[in-house]
Amino acid sequence: MRIGHSYDIHRLVSGRPLILGGVQIPHETGLLGHSDADCLLHAIADALLGAAGLSDIGQQFPDTDPAYQGADSQVLLQKVHALITQKGYCVVNIDATLVAQAPKLAPYLFAMRQNIARCLHILVEAINVKVRTHEGLDAIGNKEAIAAWAVCLIDQREPVQ
Ligand code: MG
Repeated sequence: MRIGHSYDIHRLVSGRPLILGGVQIPHETGLLGHSDADCLLHAIADALLGAAGLSDIGQQFPDTDPAYQGADSQVLLQKVHALITQKGYCVVNIDATLVAQAPKLAPYLFAMRQNIARCLHILVEAINVKVRTHEGLDAIGNKEAIAAWAVCLIDQREPVQ
């Protein structure tokens, strides 16, 4: 068994869709980035790559590559799943925390978990996503950014399907 963790943060700007966990969420601002800037999926992908000793998404999918401009991060997560599968690992579970002052994300968490589970070919019960505010502090608390933390466990055995 191997453990991995990661963190990601993206700036909130007007004129961009807000996409978290592959779910488009109605909001007046969205996350800025080369891809769809889905910080939750980026944190999860980085945690999985870290657990498998495969560096990070910046190395695997460079933001200088036009192929990833506006990319759906669910596709990146599927590619990460393929990479760790090639090394003989399956995902045991993932625990993630979104930190956002606004909007309220609780109604979307189950849909996010379903997307993540589908990308990783595991049960939705193996994915946990929590959300909390930043108590009004700093850039996240000022609604200028959204961040995500993720921890994962991978193992060299068949996944529970
Ligand atoms: Mg990112």
